[in-house]
Amino acid sequence: MMDEEERDNLIDLLPSDFAIWDFEDELPQFNHATWSWWRERLGHPKAHRGCCKTCGCATTCMASAFHDALVSSVVRELGRIGALKNPTDTSEVTS
Ligand SMILES: [Zn+2]
Repeated sequence: MMDEEERDNLIDLLPSDFAIWDFEDELPQFNHATWSWWRERLGHPKAHRGCCKTCGCATTCMASAFHDALVSSVVRELGRIGALKNPTDTSEVTS
């Protein structure tokens, strides 16, 4: 089973702007639904680097905290059931 560092390395391989959408058949229409797009819709737009217009600076944005926790938790749970593997060649993933 993967440890936290290995899981974090996998998460680091994810593009920062992938579409966050439930239904695969709707992806062509909702390819723009990236985390930035959701932040706007959820009322937590980014002000500048690391800051939220709603939550303010030098504090935790609750929407961002939820997003990061959800990603980490989904990957952790996938690891728990043995559904993850270390990529052998990351150049394919990051290109
Ligand atoms: Zn916020």
